[in-house]
Amino acid sequence: MGDRKRTTTVVKIGTSSITDEEGVIDSGLVAKLCDEVAILREQGHWVVVVTSGAIAAGLPDLGMGGAGRPRDAVTLQAVSAVGQGHLIGTYQRELARHDLMVGQVLLAPLDFFVRKQYLHARGTLTRLLELGVVPVVNENDAIADDEIRFGDNDRIAALVAHLVEADLLVLLTDTPGLLTSDPRLDANASLIEEIIEIDQELERLAGATGSLRGSGGMASKLAAAKIASWSGVRTVIADARRSGVVVDACAGTPGVGTVVRAREGRLGARRLWIAFAVGSSGRVQVDAGARRALEERRVSLLPAGVIGVTGSFDAGDAVEIVDPDGVVFAKGMVRQDARLLEAHMGMRTGELPDGVSHEVIHADDLVVLP
Ligand code: GLU
Repeated sequence: MGDRKRTTTVVKIGTSSITDEEGVIDSGLVAKLCDEVAILREQGHWVVVVTSGAIAAGLPDLGMGGAGRPRDAVTLQAVSAVGQGHLIGTYQRELARHDLMVGQVLLAPLDFFVRKQYLHARGTLTRLLELGVVPVVNENDAIADDEIRFGDNDRIAALVAHLVEADLLVLLTDTPGLLTSDPRLDANASLIEEIIEIDQELERLAGATGSLRGSGGMASKLAAAKIASWSGVRTVIADARRSGVVVDACAGTPGVGTVVRAREGRLGARRLWIAFAVGSSGRVQVDAGARRALEERRVSLLPAGVIGVTGSFDAGDAVEIVDPDGVVFAKGMVRQDARLLEAHMGMRTGELPDGVSHEVIHADDLVVLP
C-alpha cells in the first residue's frame, strides 16, 4: 500500500440498524457496510466488524417476531442460535461479492478478562486479518452465562478495539452522532463534532438524548467511546445510513459524526476491564491521605487508609473508591470481602491477624479516574 500506513478499524452495527421490527435483516444495509469494508481492504486497511442482530434475526423463523418476542433469557439465547446463522450468512453473501471471506468469532466477557483467553482471542483475530479474512464478531449469546454476559455490543466493540490495538472504532447508529439535545423534542438539536474528554455532563446529555430506536442508545455509545479512548483508540459515532460513512470516518473527513479523541497512553486490558467493563459491587471510602497516595504514587490501598465500606462485595469484585466527601475518584478489584474489610479497616499492617491480605486493592488492580 505504498507509503501510507495500514490502519485497523473496528466497526460496530446494532440490531436497530440492520433488522426491522419483525427481525428481518436489512440486507441492503449489510451490503452497503460490506461495500465500505471492501473499499478499506482494497486500500490496504484492516477491518473487524462487530454485529448485533442475532436475537432479532432468529425471531421470524420461530414465529416470534413483533409482539410475539419472548422475554425469558433461555428462549432468547436459543433464538440467537438460529439468528446468528442468518446474520453470518448475510455477511458471507455480501462480502463474497467482493471476493472477501468472513471469519465468525463469538466472544464472551471472560475472553477479555482472563489473560490467557485474551491473548488467545487476539491471536485468532490477528491471524484472520493477516489471512485477508474479515472477522465478524458478536457476543456468544447462545451459550453466555446470563449473569455475566455483556448484552451490549458497543462495549464488546470497544474491547475488541483494545484487543486488536485498533486505530479507530466506528459505532454506527441511527442518528448523525451525539446531538446537543433530543431531536424529537428540539428542532435546533445539532451535532457535537468533537469530544476531547468524556465528562459527567456529556454522560448526562447522552442519557437524556438517547437514540431514536435500539437497545444501546447514546449512553452506551459514550461508555464504549470512553473505553476506546482509554485504550488509545479514536471513536466516531455516526449514522449507519450515511453514504460512505466508514470510509470517511477512517479518512478523518470532518462532519462525518461525533469524534471522540483517544487519550495519550493505553491502559492494560486488566485495568481497563476493572475501570469500565465490570459494574461495581460496592464502595470503599478512604481518608484524604490515602486518596493522595493513590493518586500521586500509584501504590496499593491498605486497610489503614480505609474509613468506610458500603455494599456486600466478595474478594475479586470491582468496587468504587470514594474520598471522605463521597466523591468517586478510582475503581479497583478488592482482595477482601466487605465483612472482612469492615472488621479490619483502619488497622496498620502489623495489627492485622494472620491470613488477612495486607492489601485491600493491589496497585495493579486499581485505576484512578479523571
Ligand atoms: N448480541 C446481541 C445480538 O446479537 C446484541 C447485543 C446488543 O444489542 O448490543 O442480538
